[in-house]
Amino acid sequence: SDEFKMVLGALELYDKTVAHSMTRFEDIFSVPSYLELNPTMVTQILEMGYTRIPIYEGDPKNVVSLLFVKDLALLDPQENLKVMNIANLYNHEVRRVLIDMPLRTMLEEFKRGEYHMALVEKLVEQEDRDPVYELCGLITLEDIIEEIIQCE
Ligand code: ATP
Ligand code: ATP
Repeated sequence: SDEFKMVLGALELYDKTVAHSMTRFEDIFSVPSYLELNPTMVTQILEMGYTRIPIYEGDPKNVVSLLFVKDLALLDPQENLKVMNIANLYNHEVRRVLIDMPLRTMLEEFKRGEYHMALVEKLVEQEDRDPVYELCGLITLEDIIEEIIQCE
């Protein structure tokens, strides 16, 4: 039954980490900070259907801010503002978690309600230098709920 599957799904949260449910880096839709928000661009962004969009500078792994689609509501498309102008206006906090965070811990975090999407990073060791964090995905509450209701 569906209930049975949900209980199993919830139990499975216990030995899974964020890595299991995240959207992988390759599949992230993000935009460069210099992107001009002309009418064509705004349309394309809206058509992607995502609510929260990482903004990167230079390298797509270098996420510096977030664009919320609702931020575009008051935008005058004729002004041709750049993504970063909007980002600076709203200044949404970028939350980051480690790829080996247990899914149930991530769920508790999301339930607190302060944020609904986190960038997933892993620590990469480097020879003779300090380790660096590297972006490897993103995760939202939706991803964990899917895990619980076992719809994939
Ligand atoms: P299960 O063990 O339940 O079968 P799984 O096979 O889907 O789960 P997970 O270990 O949960 O594997 O990881 C999900 C995906 O995330 C895998 O496809 C794996 O390649 C990727 N992944 C896991 N750990 C890392 C990591 N440290 N860095 C990058 N990607 C990772
Ligand atoms: P909401 O449902 O709150 O309007 P949404 O549809 O943009 O937001 P979620 O429902 O939170 O996003 O997540 C749906 C799926 O899309 C999840 O698998 C999530 O990891 C993925 N996702 C969310 N934002 C992005 C993005 N910018 N790029 C790629 N995948 C994303």
